[in-house]
Amino acid sequence: LRILGIEGTAWAASAAVFETTDPTRRTDDERVEIYTDAYEPDSGGIHPREAAEHMHESIPEVVAQARETAREWADERGGDDAIDAVAFSRGPGLGPCLRIVATAARATAQRFDVPLVGVNHMVAHLEIGRHRSEFASPVCLNASGANAHVLGYRNGRYRVLGETMDTGVGNAIDKFTRHLGWSHPGGPKVEARAKDGEFLDLPYVVKGMDFSFSGIMSAAKQAVDSGEAVEDVCFGLQEHVFAMLTEVSERALSLTGSGQLVLGGGVAQNERLREMLASMCEQRGAEFYAPEPRFLRDNAGMIAVLGAKMYEAGDTIAIEDSRIDSNFRPDQVPVTWREEEDW
Ligand code: ATP
Repeated sequence: LRILGIEGTAWAASAAVFETTDPTRRTDDERVEIYTDAYEPDSGGIHPREAAEHMHESIPEVVAQARETAREWADERGGDDAIDAVAFSRGPGLGPCLRIVATAARATAQRFDVPLVGVNHMVAHLEIGRHRSEFASPVCLNASGANAHVLGYRNGRYRVLGETMDTGVGNAIDKFTRHLGWSHPGGPKVEARAKDGEFLDLPYVVKGMDFSFSGIMSAAKQAVDSGEAVEDVCFGLQEHVFAMLTEVSERALSLTGSGQLVLGGGVAQNERLREMLASMCEQRGAEFYAPEPRFLRDNAGMIAVLGAKMYEAGDTIAIEDSRIDSNFRPDQVPVTWREEEDW
C-alpha cells in the first residue's frame, strides 16, 4: 500500500509518500519520505496571505517530488500502481492555505484515479506517535504552534481532556520572541538562550485540566522590558510553560488510568519539554514516547500514515464532500481505524 500525503495548514508546504504492507501497525519494512518547503516570514509572525502564496508556489513542487519517489518505489516492487490514495490536511489551519492544499489533493487524486482521504491535522499529530510507539491506548499531548491539548480515546473519539484557554503553546512563545525582535520561529531560539539562564518566577495558570499562556507571556515581556536578563526569562518561561503541560498530562494519565504518554507537535522538538515529561512518566511507572523530529513539526508524513489507516478502514471522502474546515477539532472525527480498548 502506498499513500501520498499533502500538508499545508500553516508554514510547511509538504508532501510525503508512505509505503507499508500493513497500515494498521508499524512494520519493519515500512518507509516514509517527506519533502517540505518551509515558509519563512521576512518579519513578524506568519502572514496568512503570504503563507498561502507560499503554498501556491511550493505545493506543486513537493507533490512532484513525492510522486517521483512513489513511482521509483513502485518500479522496485515490480511496477504496481504508484499510489493507492491521496491524503490531505482538511484542517485545522489557515483557510487560504488549506484551500490550496485541498485543490492540489483533489487534482492529484483525480489524475491518478484513486480515492481521497481527508485527515484532521491534530489527530495526525497524535496518531504518528501512537503508530511509531505501538502503544495501544496512550494519552496524547499535542504541543504545537497553534494548539495545545491533551487527548484520550473513548468510545470511538479522541476526547479533549484539557486544552489551552487562549493561544497555542508555540504561538505564545513566538509572540514573546516577536516582542524581542527575533525572527520566526521563536521556540528554538528560546531553547538555545535558556541554556545560559537561571530560574525566574512567572505566572503559572492551570485550571483543572485546562491552562492559559496569556498571563505568563505578558509577564515575560514585562520582565525583559524592565531589565531582567533575556536568558533568565527564557529559562523561566520554559520551566513554567512546560511544567503546566506536564502537570495536565500527569492528571490525564491519572484520570484515564493509562500507563502510556505520546507527544506530538512542533514544540515537542524541545529537549527540556521531553525531559520533563519523561521524568514524570518514569516517576509514575508510565511509558513515554516522542517521535523523531521530522514527524513532530508539521509534515506530510504524519498525514500519509494516518491516511493509510483511514484508507484501510474504508474512510475515504468524495470530492464534493471534501471541503476544508479551518476550525476542525479532533473530537469531531469519528475514529474508524482503531479498535483498542479505551480507558
Ligand atoms: P499546528 O500544528 O497547531 O497547526 P503549527 O502549524 O504552527 O501548529 P508546528 O510545526 O506543530 O506548527 O509547530 C511550530 C511551532 O513549534 C512554532 O511555534 C515554533 O516556535 C515551535 N518550535 C519549534 N521548535 C521548537 C523548540 N525547539 N522549542 C520550542 N518550540 C519550538
